[in-house]
Amino acid sequence: MILPTLSPEQTLQPEYEAFIQALERTAFSGDIDLTYAGRLIASTDNSIYQQLPQGVVYPRTQEDVGIVMALAAQAAHQQIQFSPRGGGTGTNGQSLTSWLVLDLSRYLTRVLEINIEEGWVRVESGLVKDALNKALAPHGFFFAPDTSTSNRCTLGGMINTDASGQGSLVYGKTSDHILELASYTLHGTRLTTRPIPLKQARELAQLATPEGGIYQQVIKSCVDLRGEVVKRFPPLNRFLTGYDLKHAYDADSEQVDLSRLIAGSEGTLAVVTEAKLNITRIPRHKVLVNVTYSSFQSALRHAPALVEAQATSVETIDSKVLDLARNDIVWHGVKDMLESDSATPMDGINMVEFTATSEYALEKKLTSLTSMLDDSIRQQNGVIGYQICDDPASIGRIYAMRKKAVGLLGATKGARKPIAFVEDTAVPPEHLADYISEFRDLLDAHQLNYGMFGHVDAGVLHVRPALNMQDPEDEALVRTISDQVVALTAKYKGLMWGEHGKGFRSEYGPEFFGELLYQELCKLKAVFDPLNRLNPGKICTPYQSQQALVSVDATKRGWFDRQIPLATQGVYQTAMDCNGNGLCFNFDKDTPMCPSYRVTGDRRYSPKGRASLLREWLRLTSLAGLDAGIEPKARASWWQRWRNRKQTDDFNHEVKASMDECLACKACGSQCPVKVDIPSHRARFLAHYHSRYGRPLKDYLVKNIEHWLPRMAAHPRLINSLMGGRPGRWVSAELLGYVDAPNLSVPALTRRDAYRKALSWQQFLELRQGNALNEAEQSHFVGIVQDPFTSFYEAELVEDLLKLAARLGVQAVILPYRANGKAAHVKGFLAEFRQLARVQAQQLQQAADMGLPLVGLDASTVLCYADEYQQFLGAERGNFKVKLVQQWLQEDVDESILRDFIKPVPAPASHEQPVDLLLHCTEQTELPQSGASWQQIFAKVGVECRPLQTGCCGMAGTYGHEAEHQAKSKQLYAMSWQPKLASSEKPLATGFSCRCQAQRVEQRRLQHPLQHLLQVLS
Ligand SMILES: Cc1cc2nc3c(=O)[nH]c(=O)nc-3n(C[C@H](O)[C@H](O)[C@H](O)COP(=O)(O)OP(=O)(O)OC[C@H]3O[C@@H](n4cnc5c(N)ncnc54)[C@H](O)[C@@H]3O)c2cc1C
Ligand code: SF4
Ligand code: SF4
Repeated sequence: MILPTLSPEQTLQPEYEAFIQALERTAFSGDIDLTYAGRLIASTDNSIYQQLPQGVVYPRTQEDVGIVMALAAQAAHQQIQFSPRGGGTGTNGQSLTSWLVLDLSRYLTRVLEINIEEGWVRVESGLVKDALNKALAPHGFFFAPDTSTSNRCTLGGMINTDASGQGSLVYGKTSDHILELASYTLHGTRLTTRPIPLKQARELAQLATPEGGIYQQVIKSCVDLRGEVVKRFPPLNRFLTGYDLKHAYDADSEQVDLSRLIAGSEGTLAVVTEAKLNITRIPRHKVLVNVTYSSFQSALRHAPALVEAQATSVETIDSKVLDLARNDIVWHGVKDMLESDSATPMDGINMVEFTATSEYALEKKLTSLTSMLDDSIRQQNGVIGYQICDDPASIGRIYAMRKKAVGLLGATKGARKPIAFVEDTAVPPEHLADYISEFRDLLDAHQLNYGMFGHVDAGVLHVRPALNMQDPEDEALVRTISDQVVALTAKYKGLMWGEHGKGFRSEYGPEFFGELLYQELCKLKAVFDPLNRLNPGKICTPYQSQQALVSVDATKRGWFDRQIPLATQGVYQTAMDCNGNGLCFNFDKDTPMCPSYRVTGDRRYSPKGRASLLREWLRLTSLAGLDAGIEPKARASWWQRWRNRKQTDDFNHEVKASMDECLACKACGSQCPVKVDIPSHRARFLAHYHSRYGRPLKDYLVKNIEHWLPRMAAHPRLINSLMGGRPGRWVSAELLGYVDAPNLSVPALTRRDAYRKALSWQQFLELRQGNALNEAEQSHFVGIVQDPFTSFYEAELVEDLLKLAARLGVQAVILPYRANGKAAHVKGFLAEFRQLARVQAQQLQQAADMGLPLVGLDASTVLCYADEYQQFLGAERGNFKVKLVQQWLQEDVDESILRDFIKPVPAPASHEQPVDLLLHCTEQTELPQSGASWQQIFAKVGVECRPLQTGCCGMAGTYGHEAEHQAKSKQLYAMSWQPKLASSEKPLATGFSCRCQAQRVEQRRLQHPLQHLLQVLS
């Protein structure tokens, strides 16, 4: 069956269309996205729920928010309902709605003012928390409340969930740091809130304005009922949020603060656009002690003693999370700081942070802790070891691992995945161990697995039971377990929502607040939002309203997913496994994931966005009778495909548009905790898409270029002048959509001396007479696996590799050039890719069988042999391994050979200038040890090598050469590479694409590290 056209099931409701049309007639300057794709990406967060909104509105300015709210206040639009949204990282569907999403994360991202003297900052609410801290770091300050999602959650979201995390005992919650908020209410007006004297609040309460009404009610609920409030709110570090009746009135200073009500209100009272926040000095001295335990229960029981030892924070993780971390890229950076020599297996860990203003004070705390730990180890009471970590980079890496814990749980094998719905309970820390013991019994009674980690110092433990949400019986357990956990937390005088807010758990609100105070919440809701239009059903409904609260029985993502046949899901498994934790929205330009999201700021063009669109695509194709898990066997005739281009109203085009923006850099395949490998899914999608729709000419060019290059390279001067001349460039850009093609190497590789001196494959076979190399001989030979980029466009690099081999006394054997097929795969020519891969795999296996170590120069081609070849050929691939240069130098070149040429030096010698290493992003993510390998290699020859942290250079194979992507490609380069290169005197780049991009944008010629190594050795 050929791919059918796909239509969204849910279309827009007329009143929303009317509202959007009216909005378009105002001065609103933001974006309005009514596409099905745009709505789908806002339909999930990190929770189990899924709700498709009517549309997504992205205000460009704070005034835009005012325009939206003023329009909504008009009589004609009283039915319009909204949910504000920031990073969309909520774990309980807080920002999900079936109505309009107001997403502030795209444009309201400015730091407006930093006042160091007075210790505050003014920001727009869509700013990401780590971006704020990056701006504050040069001043020696930071915004203290922390979340595991700090590199993608917004301050608006943090304020509205009253977020906190590691260090909350010392640093408090977000609401503790709010000095002032600017918000828009559904009355259409801007409301500024800050602590004011009770007397002034009483005066304001007299006004016949919406603000007056709000103050009237706040005085009744928070001041007049103060006694009830204090009695009801638990004395926990994680106090009862949404709405915080207790802190909205400070009886000591007699001040009323509306910001305290808005904080934690989950977007149900007002849309926050600006915040003035106090900031904290970065502690001068910090250490982290990683304490390991023989059982997780011992780790929990030990936590209060660690807090008593004056720790700033105590974070814990169990063995399940540790095991998952061991299989993730994150482990490379932390294993030395966690693994101990103890014979007893580690089953839990506490990460204990100490901070101090002086080294002496820190030393004192540390000495007392370590002597306590030594005693514990001697007494064998569960502590099996500890390690002290005092450099900021290592501490950062440990916390990054801890912050990745939720995502890592998503990588659990099997249909049951740990999910969030009772994951942030808080109990008094001294009861935590007993409480968790009962919690475990509860989950064991349902025969469920789970992972645990969290902030033991505050009594908050993240427990994610593993359920298969596609199985209706497991889905029903969400209700059962939620009810049981509500009862259990009540027994231990704790809270069900100690950290992440309520969202769809709002139905339990009345039970926690009690009838009297719950009604006060409803009254407060009524004065802000009488018609229940802001995030309706969350926290409470307006007083005396008949509308219902949202419930944990709401429609879940599993309901949609289970409509896709299991076999089909299996083919797209990682897209199915995406749990929406949003790690791929990382704001930091110097990290590899995800360039297409970073440059567009559009979540449709992120790994999560693409995974979401793919799931819906699989669902709709399945319902239409197509199994998209099977590669298309047939396609429409070329005439029919040409005619089909008129079918513009088709969801397939929306998925295609999203895939077209992907650079196929594969960062998601390793950086995402569930390794949602978008390029692989994209290749399958494109194969189906083009069974219905025609392809652009450039796809055929890209697919065939690997075949044409050897012939073109025979006449490099002629081809270069044809391609580089004005007519050639015009044809390439206008007809093929391909720009800035690099020049073929002159002279061609085959005409170079080093090539002639190397052995050809045939000569090698003759020399060996069919005898494989034995182990001793292997380090004297190396097989050069050619790739189309370096062999034809950068022959001097291949030449230098051959010279390096010769310099090391290693005999190079050049394998015949064969297409690798990567280009065909990227464009979704799957049958052709499989064919090419088969032929190349046979050649490489034959070489490997001869005992020849194999080395390649281009990271994406080399890694394709391990990745795509394995996926497509399975056992047929064989077991050959192609290495990158640094792997070959470290693993295969015999130390005795090296010794003659590379003189070990004790410390980096001063005569050589340090080099900066910029890694190809696929290499950086799939071979995270590459930087360290080059460092070690250069250290042997007395050169200091400094790997730099960079994002994508923007070229990524053919992406940067495609006319439609040219501007974005250069933008990406300007974000990370350009500033890094500007300050580097001796940069080295491992990627062919990256070197091309530096040449194209800055006319700067970068060397591959091997070329510098060769120079040093010469
Ligand atoms: C892996 C993972 C780990 C987490 N760890 C922590 C943690 O350590 N500590 C913690 O506290 N939380 C944690 N969370 C929960 C979540 O990240 C935080 O609640 C975060 O603060 C939400 O920010 P956001 O920008 O993503 O908000 P969103 O999810 O977009 O929205 C959250 C709520 O705020 C409202 N909202 C957002 N912006 C505005 C605005 N400008 N005006 C009015 N209302 C608004 C939304 O309507 C919604 O109700 C974690 C979540 C995940 C997925
Ligand atoms: S794609 Fe990966 S990183 Fe992004 S939300 Fe999904 S699971 Fe998280
Ligand atoms: S391959 Fe790269 S650009 Fe494409 S989704 Fe993954 S991280 Fe983003």
